[in-house]
Amino acid sequence: MPTSICPECSEEVYVDADSEQGDVVSCDECHSSLVVVGLDPLELDLSSGDDDYDSGDDFDAFDADQY
Ligand SMILES: [Zn+2]
Repeated sequence: MPTSICPECSEEVYVDADSEQGDVVSCDECHSSLVVVGLDPLELDLSSGDDDYDSGDDFDAFDADQY
């Protein structure tokens, strides 16, 4: 299972192997919501809240797919 470093607490975060860019994962250590912003290499960024997430142009396609 791929891992990346939590930007909040610098702990390793496990991400599903079939995760896609825009997916949100939770850090087991600090319970922050982290967005997958890159896959090669795997890169995580802090989710800055639902409002910001919804308004992001890049994520609209994923939202339409999932909801
Ligand atoms: Zn963390």
